[in-house]
Amino acid sequence: MSAVVPMPPLFVSHGAPDLILHDNPTRDFLAAVAATLPRPTAIVSVSAHFASLRPAVVVDAAPAMIYDFGGFDPALREMVYPAPGEPALARRIGEALVAAGHDTLLVEGRGYDHGTWVPLKLMYPAADVPVVQLSVQPRRDAAHHFAIGRALAPLVGEGVLILGSGSLTHNLHEASAGGRGPRSRRVPPPAWVTEFAEWIAEKVAANDVEALLDYRARAPHAVRNHPTDEHLLPLFVALGAGGDGMRIHEAYDFAVLAMDAYRFEVGRENLT
Ligand code: ZN
Repeated sequence: MSAVVPMPPLFVSHGAPDLILHDNPTRDFLAAVAATLPRPTAIVSVSAHFASLRPAVVVDAAPAMIYDFGGFDPALREMVYPAPGEPALARRIGEALVAAGHDTLLVEGRGYDHGTWVPLKLMYPAADVPVVQLSVQPRRDAAHHFAIGRALAPLVGEGVLILGSGSLTHNLHEASAGGRGPRSRRVPPPAWVTEFAEWIAEKVAANDVEALLDYRARAPHAVRNHPTDEHLLPLFVALGAGGDGMRIHEAYDFAVLAMDAYRFEVGRENLT
């Protein structure tokens, strides 16, 4: 039996649900990134589309599908991602979070939302790695999500992929040009988007956790890029679970959605 290899946590931007249907750089990135990683023993998916007041962990052995969107190509509703759950790991995550002081729920009957299944169908199309879903808490701040990540850090050493799935910027009102329809996918991003994306890249590269956790006050145009920040919160879980980080993908869609991805190295505590 081969030794378990520690697994770098990731943050990915999942984009619009139809990302998987059309040729685009982020689809190519997601399809290629798994080959740059060790083989995970399991995946903990922290999706922006699974929101709750308290941390919630899905304990189902065979999660179903959730088509949590409207107005996209009907072909999306034919797609399935039949990866198994891993109830024992889900219960251990619940216990670890409780031990770290987070009042955590175990939930049943929740399928894979598109923040989970769109990236994973590209990354692990065989659906042969078990997936456990963990919620975000949009009423809590970045520091709370970093602490959740810290509590998950021991799993990194067990080869579990901690996968945060959100969007590096996420102003849907601007993405639809104030409701007038989607912005062109060909125009370059405005400065208020790129300045925010570059600030995050700089602070991650410098491992400036203090600045990152205070991003809403310190980052340029933070509130404009995240009127609500559920799509950025998964980044802080990955940041907390790992060590030094770097941007591994940079792209824009609808001009204002930064589709960046980050990889966090395995923390020192997981290298023994
Ligand atoms: Zn989303």
